[in-house]
Amino acid sequence: MLNKIINEDSIAQIGNLIKENDKFLMVGHLSPDGDAVGASLALFHLLTNMGKSARVIVPNVFPNFLKWLPDAGSILQYDSNKTAIDGLIAQADVIFCLDFNALKRMGALGDAVGDAPCHKIMIDHHLDPESFSDVTISMPKMSSTSELLYRVIYQLGLVKQVDKTVATCLYTGMMTDTGGFTYNSNRRDIYLIISDLIDIGIDKDDIYRRVNNNYSFSRLSLEGYVLYHKLKVYPQLNASLISLTRDELKNFDYVSGDSEGFVNIPLQIFGMRLSCFLREDKDMIKISLRSVGNFPCNELAAAFFNGGGHKNASGGEFSGTMEQAIAQYEKALTVFKKQLIY
Ligand code: 5GP
Ligand code: MN
Repeated sequence: MLNKIINEDSIAQIGNLIKENDKFLMVGHLSPDGDAVGASLALFHLLTNMGKSARVIVPNVFPNFLKWLPDAGSILQYDSNKTAIDGLIAQADVIFCLDFNALKRMGALGDAVGDAPCHKIMIDHHLDPESFSDVTISMPKMSSTSELLYRVIYQLGLVKQVDKTVATCLYTGMMTDTGGFTYNSNRRDIYLIISDLIDIGIDKDDIYRRVNNNYSFSRLSLEGYVLYHKLKVYPQLNASLISLTRDELKNFDYVSGDSEGFVNIPLQIFGMRLSCFLREDKDMIKISLRSVGNFPCNELAAAFFNGGGHKNASGGEFSGTMEQAIAQYEKALTVFKKQLIY
C-alpha cells in the first residue's frame, strides 16, 4: 500500500475542481521533457476517460523520442499555435501546471497562463514553488512529477480510471526523469507504483526501447564526435565540460532532443562528480548540469547561470558567446572547488 503523503485538503480541492468543471488544460515547461510530456498526457487521458474536455499545450517543441506516446500528436505548441492556444486558455476552467515551479519556466506561454482568470493547479517536484496557483502540490522529494501525479490520482480515488494508456504515460515520465531508475530513485514507493502500473498492463521493456533506441545515424555520430573531440576533463576538480556550437550541431543535422543525455555520459568516468553541457541555442546558451553525491549543482546553476533545479540535475541559461560561457563555468569551478575535491 502507498502512504498517503499529500495534504488531504489539497486533494479535496483538486477533486472538487475536477468534479465541478469541464474544460481542462495541461501545460508543461519550455523544452518539455519526458516527465512534463508524460504527466501532461497521462492527465489528459485520465480526464478524457472521465468524460471531460482536455488538451495538452507546451511552449515549444518536445523531443522526437516522445512522439510515440498515445495522442502526442494532439499536443499544441505555443510557438506555432499562439492564437489557438490563447483561445483555449480564455475558455479553460482549470489549468494543470505540470513539472515546473515558476511561470517563467513556460517562456511566453507563462504570461498567457499567468493572466488567465481560470483555476490553476500546480503539481511539481522542483524546489521553491512560486505562488501563482490555487492549489499547489509541490514535493521536491518525488523522483518525478509523474510519480507525484500517480499519488494525486491514488489519493483522489481515481486509480480505476488509470488504463494502460494513462499508465504508459506515467511510467515514461518516471523512467525518463530518473535515467531509467539509475538516479534519484532509491525510495521503495517508486517500485510500488511501478508494480501497480505493471498490473494495469504497461510493457515497461517496450517503453524503454521506444524512448531509448530510436536514434538517427547522425545523432549517434554526434555522440561519437562529442566524446572524441568535445569532452574536456578537469582531473584535479573531478569535473567535466561538453560544449556544442550551432555550427557543430548543424554539421550533424541536429534536431531538438538529439543532445538529450549527453550531460550524463561524463559521469561514467571514475571519480567524476560534476558534468556540464553547454549548447548554443538560437538566442542563448543552454546549460545542463549533473552531479553525483552531495555536490549541489542547483547552487552552481543559480549563482552562475541564472538557473536552478535539483541537487543532482540542474540547468540555466547564459547570454554571450560560447567562450564566455566556458569562462563562466571555469570561474564557477574555482568557486566550488572545495566541494568538488575529495
Ligand atoms: P535539463 O538539464 O534536463 O535541461 O534540466 C535539468 C533540471 O534543471 C530541470 O529538471 C530543471 O529542474 C532545471 N533547469 C533546467 N533549466 C533551467 C533553467 O533555465 N532555470 C531553472 N530555474 N531551472 C532549470
Ligand atoms: Mn520532472
